[in-house]
Formats: sequence, structure tokens, C-alpha cells
Amino acid sequence: MLKNYLLSPGPTAVPERVLLAMAQPVIHHRTPQFSAVFADCAKRLKKLWQTKEDVIILSSSGTGAMEAAVANSFSKGEKVLVINSGKFGERWGQISESFGLEVVWMKLGWGQAADPSAIKAELDKDPDIKGVFMQATESSTTVKHPIKEVAQITRGRDLLFVVDGITGVGVFEIPMDDWGIDILVSGAQKAFMLPPGLAFIALSEKAWKKADEAKNSKFYLNLKKEKKNLANNTSAYTPAVTLINGLKEALDMFEEEGLDNVYKRTALHAKAVRAGCDALGLKNVTDSPSEAMTGVYLPEGVDGNKLVKTLRDNFGVTYAGGQDEWKGKIIRIAQLGYIGAFDVIIAISALEMALSKFGADIKLGTGVAAAEEVLKEGFGI
Ligand SMILES: *Cc1c(COP(=O)(O)O)cnc(C)c1O
Repeated sequence: MLKNYLLSPGPTAVPERVLLAMAQPVIHHRTPQFSAVFADCAKRLKKLWQTKEDVIILSSSGTGAMEAAVANSFSKGEKVLVINSGKFGERWGQISESFGLEVVWMKLGWGQAADPSAIKAELDKDPDIKGVFMQATESSTTVKHPIKEVAQITRGRDLLFVVDGITGVGVFEIPMDDWGIDILVSGAQKAFMLPPGLAFIALSEKAWKKADEAKNSKFYLNLKKEKKNLANNTSAYTPAVTLINGLKEALDMFEEEGLDNVYKRTALHAKAVRAGCDALGLKNVTDSPSEAMTGVYLPEGVDGNKLVKTLRDNFGVTYAGGQDEWKGKIIRIAQLGYIGAFDVIIAISALEMALSKFGADIKLGTGVAAAEEVLKEGFGI
């Protein structure tokens, strides 16, 4: 028997409670019974977004909400600034270009966080820019971007600040209204502890107003139509009923723990994973690490692709490797979602053992001991 642990930054592990909630028989979606669940979820999602606006639930993967942002609040030919510091930043630009927007790319090195003053300079220089797109966490590089600081620059200008919070919402605080974010999207299979298949999106008053004039085409991802339906506690098309039953349970779990405690737990685990990796001499890939996940370079001579495969297939522990220029060179370990202190120990222990199998010069237990020193705090030791 091989016991499996899913420690990749998405999809993340689904708690048993959520799985059982999803085992309920499917009920018809145009019923008072389902409408009550749907409306309750939509209302409670607002707490995670910290917004007074509607949070729209879409049946799609996270990219669906990204596409909805571009399709609903922008028009062909408009100029937008895209912060491209990895795969997902690049995706904002690709979606924008596929809708005929003119993309000004701000390309950053991998592992680099956005510099708010560079964004300010670009916006001061070019008043035609109608949108700024970035990630809260760029999952491909594990970088946390300074969303609050960028929002201070974008708010008050004639443009929308659009944030991909797919590995941000439910990981750390992103008070949408307070900071002045115009569009904030997220998805099910990361911090929300759900299987893939749901996406969430909220628009500020300014973004809804722009949506009234926007000319890009959309059909399935028509947010104004969804907003109208949500006012009647339903969705435009058949929603993913089963996943929404799971979402209700996941939101219960968030509420029972308290969102602040969710953020604290995730941050403590991030600190523990970093300490463990540091002790093993594995260098972090960024100076601006997110609490969502930890990315470290593997020792010279260790083939990351083989290491990740061995960890998954022989040890039963799934991590994420690197993408593109970091393929085979790094490993990414999740802290977001359904992760407890001892999952951190498993993550570091399995990594230590796999590294020694691949000939790295490490002393077994070093990383685990360092992680335990941090995790003690969570148990009041
Ligand atoms: C996972 C992820 C996405 C993509 O979401 P899908 O659900 O695969 O469509 C987009 N952005 C970020 C930051 C992510 O981590």
C-alpha cells in the first residue's frame, strides 16, 4: 500500500467532510432547496473578499473567471498593463490579446515581485492604460506581489485594477473594497479545499459601470446576467450543484476555524517549510515568498523532474516541480488549503529522504527539526 498525500499548490487535498457533503444526491438546481444553498454560499464568499459587492460563482476552472474579467469589463482595442512575472501573469496577457486588447507587457524576471513605483511610472507615462492586471501570488514562481501598494497607485485613476487571487483569497487577507481592487477572482481547487470546477469573481462599482459600456463579446461568462440571476438566488445556467454542496461545507470549516486563524495557520506553515528548507541548504527562489506555497532550488546535480516523480510514485507525496525556465530545477510545496502541522513534517521529511536517495549531501532530520521548532508555536510549546 502507498498512502498518498497531495501537497501541490493546486489542486489541494479535499477534507473528508467536504467529500461527504459532495456525496449527497444531486437535487434540481431550480428549487428553493438548492437556491438556499447557492445564495448562502454567495453571501458568505463576500467575507473572504471583504466586499459589499456580489461574488459571482461560475462553473469553470479559475481561468474562466480570468476570462470573464477581460470579457465583461473591457473592449477591443483598449490598452492594458499586464505584470508578467510567470505563467499566470502571462495568461492575463494572453487572454487580453485574444480579446483584442492592446497589451503593454511589464516583464519581470522569474522570482521577482512587482515594483509599485515602476507601475506608477508606466501609468503616469501612458494615461490611455485602462486596466492593470496582476496576481496576488504568482503560483509558477511562488512570488507574492504587493497588491495593497499597487492598489494605492491605481485607485482614483481612470482604469481598473484586476487581481488574480486564485492562490491569494483564503490564504491571506485581500480586502477588496478597502484596498480599492476593481476585480478580484479566485478558484475552487486551491485555498478553498475543493475539487476543481468552480471559479469566483467580484467587481467593484467602477468595474460594473465599465461593464455597462464594454463591448467585448461573451455568452456563457456574462456577468451582468449572472448578477441578475444571483439577485433571485440562482445562476444563469446549470451550476455545479455537487461542488456547491462542497463549497458550503468548506465555508463552514473556514467559519469554524475563523478566517484570521486560517491566515495565521497558513503563515505559520509557510514559516516552518521555509525554515526546514533553509536548514537543508535549499535556497528560496524568491525574496518575496507567498504564504500559499514555498519554492526552493534543488541542489546542483539533482534532476527535479525525476525527484518529483519519485516522490509522487514511490513515496506517495505529490509536490509541484518547476515550469518553463525552472523545469527540473525547483520544487514547490503547498501550505494553502487543508494543510495541518504534520503535513508540513511529511513534506519536509519526504523531501529529505528523496534528496538523499538522489545523492544530495544532507543530514536526515535536519529539515524536520527546524520545521518542528517553528511549528511548536502553533501548539503553544
Ligand atoms: C491555478 C492558478 C490559475 C489557473 O486556474 P485554473 O483553475 O487551472 O484555470 C490561475 N492563476 C493562479 C495564480 C493559479 O494559481
